[in-house]
Amino acid sequence: MTDGGSSGGGSGRGTRRRLLALLAGAGGAGLAGQAAGAVTTGHHRVHSASGHAHLAAPAVVGRAAPPKPLIMLDPGHGGKDPGAIGFSGTYEKHVAEAAATELHRQLLASGRYRVELTRGRDIFIPLEDRVGIAEGKQAALFISMHADALHDPSVRGASVYTLSSGASDAQTAALAAKENSADRFAGPRFRATSPEVQEILASLVRQETRVGSARMADSVVGAFRPRIGLLSNPSRHAAFVVLKASDIPSVLVEMGFMSNRLDEAALRTAAHRTVVASAMTGAIDRYFSRAAGGFTQLAG
Ligand code: ZN
Repeated sequence: MTDGGSSGGGSGRGTRRRLLALLAGAGGAGLAGQAAGAVTTGHHRVHSASGHAHLAAPAVVGRAAPPKPLIMLDPGHGGKDPGAIGFSGTYEKHVAEAAATELHRQLLASGRYRVELTRGRDIFIPLEDRVGIAEGKQAALFISMHADALHDPSVRGASVYTLSSGASDAQTAALAAKENSADRFAGPRFRATSPEVQEILASLVRQETRVGSARMADSVVGAFRPRIGLLSNPSRHAAFVVLKASDIPSVLVEMGFMSNRLDEAALRTAAHRTVVASAMTGAIDRYFSRAAGGFTQLAG
């Protein structure tokens, strides 16, 4: 599983890096970097303790372990923005941070990923900056974690959101408006090359990103279904600013609703957050084990 996971993330990141290199007008850099990373014959010899270096077949010797994919976890809200305030007064920002911290712990313990948080403490970060942090570090996956409130306190259950220009339903549109109100909209930034080439490459990146995001959303819903209550039609989409990274598959997970007494009570317990994080870890494993594939040849 480890190999499958790593190579899936690696190839996705490689593709993205090549496309971004092209966008920056440095098309050769990504390919050169990839070639250099693939040859580590000397490294293998060092590992042979006996000194009688056993030379394996070239196909084996030439294969370096790809870097572990970086997962960027984004606990919603923080600092002056409490997020939703729960049925009994719990702040969403605290639930989001506690759940993300537990997921961070579980993912690191798996040994399969590098994991970072957009915020590891109670501070305010504008939405665009959260995207910027993930892009700057070339994350392979972006997961924003929330537990919002709805007007109807009877609505409960988890749901997963991906980016689209139009919302899948009115409830999701309202949710996106609420999430986005923490910040103002700003589109992805691209540099260099002609506008035509930029647009073509950008749309290819977005297409791959959309496919990846949808795959991740399916994976989360599948992992939650047996263990965690879900909304009806739990996979939804809307124009969430925090999901705007053009080149990183991104999902926003609503772990439940603070406006519902039962959801809030569950999310206040470490035991329930552990179950949520465990399901998320399973979803992430599944996402990376099904290698991204796609249009590797296009840029190469
Ligand atoms: Zn939220």
